Formats: sequence, C-alpha cells, structure tokens
Amino acid sequence: MHNSALSNDQFAAILAALPDPVFILTRSGRYAAVFGGADLRYYHDGSGLVGLSIGDVLTREKTDFFLGEIASALHGGGLHIVEYTLAGSDVKGLKAEGPSQPIWFEGRVQRLAFQVAGEDAVLWVASNITPRHELETRLRAQSETDPLTGLANRRKLLAAMQQHFALFSRYRTPSAILAFDIDHLKHINDRHGHLMGDQVIIALAGVCRAELRGNDVPARFGGDEFVALLPQTGLPSATVIAQRLRQQALHAFAALGIGDAAATISIGISEFAADDASCESALERADNALYRAKAQGRNQVVS
Ligand code: GH3
Ligand code: MG
Repeated sequence: MHNSALSNDQFAAILAALPDPVFILTRSGRYAAVFGGADLRYYHDGSGLVGLSIGDVLTREKTDFFLGEIASALHGGGLHIVEYTLAGSDVKGLKAEGPSQPIWFEGRVQRLAFQVAGEDAVLWVASNITPRHELETRLRAQSETDPLTGLANRRKLLAAMQQHFALFSRYRTPSAILAFDIDHLKHINDRHGHLMGDQVIIALAGVCRAELRGNDVPARFGGDEFVALLPQTGLPSATVIAQRLRQQALHAFAALGIGDAAATISIGISEFAADDASCESALERADNALYRAKAQGRNQVVS
C-alpha cells in the first residue's frame, strides 16, 4: 500500500503511535521488529527485544508455547487468535519486582506474505485484556454462586453433575447425591423472623464447607433445599457422611440460640445407576428419598 500523502518519517511515527505492541516474529522465534505499544499503562517497552529470540527472554515453557502458536499461524494462513498470560516469573532474569499479577493478552497473529531474514514470519499484535478477563472471571463466578451462602447454585451443581455422570457412563466412577432440606423453616421464620431463617440457611452452608471434601460440590438448590454431589463416593460412605452432616447441622443450628424451635435437617441419598438415562434420574431418586425422610418424621437420613 502506498500513500503519497505521508512521508517515511510519518509512517514510522504512525507505527510507533499504535497503542498495542506489534511484533514481527520469525518461525524460529526471532524478534525481527517491534512497533507500537505506545500505551505505557499497559505495556513494557519492547524495543530492546529486536535481534533477540523468544528463548532469550522467556522461560522454556512460554517459549515452546509461542513457537507453537507461530507455527499454527503460519500453517493456517488466516488470522490466528490466542489468549495467554505473561507473568514476571515467565521472563528470564527479572527480579521479583514488577507486576505481581500475571497479565492476560490476546494475540492476533497473521502470517506475512514474505520472508523476513530468510525465514517465514508472522505479525503478532498483543492486546492487554486483563480488565476484560477479570470481569469475565467475576461474572462467571457470580453466575455460578448462590449470593446468600456463597455455595454453588443450581446451575453450577447441574453442570458438575453432568460432568460426573459422563465419567460414570464411561468408567463407572461412582458419585453419590445428597438432597437435604431444613425441617420446618417456616416455623423458624414465623417465630424468629426471616433474618434468623437466613442465618439457619447460612449455618447449613457452613456445615457443608466444614464436613464435605474439596472436590464435593455442595449447592443451594433453592429456598431451603440443598443438594451435594459427592464424586467417587458410593452409598455406604455417603450414608456415613450424611449422618455426620445431619448431626453437625443440629449443633450449628443450636448455636444460633433458637432454643426449643431448634432446627433439624432431613436428607435423601442416591447414587448414579447403570440404567440412569441422565443424572436427573439420580437427582430425582435423592429427592424422593428426601420426601420419605420428611414423611417418616424428619431429622433423618434415607437412601
Ligand atoms: P419442611 O420440614 O417440610 O421442609 O418444612 P418447611 O417449613 O421447611 O417448608 P418447605 O421446605 O416446604 O419450604 C421452605 C420454606 O423455607 C419456605 C420459606 O418460608 C423458607 N425459605 C425459603 N427460602 C428462604 C430464604 O432464603 N430465607 C428464609 N429465611 N426462609 C426461606
Ligand atoms: Mg424445609
């Protein structure tokens, strides 16, 4: 492209003024040229990189990653887009100072139609997308979290159940499901106020956190009903865990000082079965067991 209205100096100034840095990288990882990156709130000055190779600057792991992406962009020919992080610890010979958080980048990588220094080469535009990425992370967490208790919500629980049901279908890895519900929460609300009812729900969430394991997924399913997915757990151990949960809930509720109206919970248990069409079948069985626990007098575990 030729534009007679601009001098070569003006072209150079325009490239330097590009807010995002633009790297010309060869297949072997040489920085053949660096332009732009004028937005110094977001980028370090990259001009010192020219003539160096990626491997001179970055750790082995990151170098391999960049070389792989360059190869993909060269192979594909079209616009290649990739998201990645760079942290101070990825840069060789950098002291501990500098930004402590990794920076998220979006690389837009385009093969060049000509060789540079005898090698195939790409143009790599690196955009700092850290704020957008943080927002995404926060929104995703919010969309999966119950605001009152901080536990997973129904959406997250169902997603986790589907994942583990797929594992069960392929490898027969068992998972148990506990469905539990606070007994007579309406009475507690009526006698002690809705805020105390909330405290009871929050206390039950605390019991879940304390009693369940790291890869269990306790969730507030809605209202005063909770569902917990217990991966790699069969019915016998699930029953032991459920009894412990029931006992600890009793203590936690008693500590709230609601006296003679002390709350209890009822629990129904199921596990994935070979003839389940989907994880919903197992959830339904846990729900039915919970219903029986209620019907048989509450404050008990039924499987
Ligand atoms: P049951 O023993 O049969 O479970 O009786 P229950 O009174 O707990 O009634 P049920 O589980 O059928 O209904 C849930 C009640 O829990 C309805 C509502 O009054 C109360 N509840 C649901 N969500 C909340 C909440 O977020 N906060 C408070 N304080 N109460 C809630
Ligand atoms: Mg209830």
